[in-house]
Amino acid sequence: MDFKEKIRVIPDFPHPGIRFKDITTLLKDGPSYKAAINQLADQLKGKQIDVIVGPEARGFVVGAPLAYALEIGFVPVRKAGKLPAETVEANYSLEYGKDALAIHKDAIQPGQKVLIADDLLATGGTISATLDLVRQLGGQPIGLAFLIELTYLNGRDKLKELDIVSLVQY
Ligand code: 5GP
Repeated sequence: MDFKEKIRVIPDFPHPGIRFKDITTLLKDGPSYKAAINQLADQLKGKQIDVIVGPEARGFVVGAPLAYALEIGFVPVRKAGKLPAETVEANYSLEYGKDALAIHKDAIQPGQKVLIADDLLATGGTISATLDLVRQLGGQPIGLAFLIELTYLNGRDKLKELDIVSLVQY
C-alpha cells in the first residue's frame, strides 16, 4: 500500500518554511490505518518486547494499536503535570524554548524491553527525552517504530544503538 499517498503535506505549518506531514488523512481511512499498523507489527514480529511506550499525542495513535496488535501493554508518556500518579520527568528542547515529558514511576519494571512508538521522527528530540524516561526507570530500549521518518533531519544519527522501523520516508 502506498501510505505516502494518504499523508497530506501542509506547507508553512506551523511556521513558514515547514512542510507538515498531516497523518489525519491516513487515520480517517480505516483500511489504510489498519494496514499501516499491521505492517509495523509485521516488521516487529519475533522481537522480544515487553511494553510499548508512546509520547502524547500522536504517539498514542500509533503506539496503542500497535500494542494491541502485538498483545503487549501500552505506557503513555505525557507532558509534565498531566499524569495522576508519581512520575519521573525529562526536559527537552523545542524549536522555541523547553518543555518536559513525564512517565509514571511504576510504568516500567527494571530490565523490561521497551519499544517506543510515535507518528514521526524529525530531529529525534522527542524520542531522546522519551528514551531518557525509560532509562530512568531501568527499562531497556530495544527499538523505535514510526509511521514517518524525515531522513534529511538525521534523527537516526542520535539514536544509533537502536533498531528503527518506519513505513514512509521523506
Ligand atoms: P522531533 O522531536 O523528532 O524533532 O519531532 C518529532 C515530534 O514532533 C513527533 O512527536 C511528531 O508528532 C511531531 N512532528 C514534528 N513535525 C511533524 C510533522 O511534520 N508531522 C507530524 N504529524 N508530526 C510532526
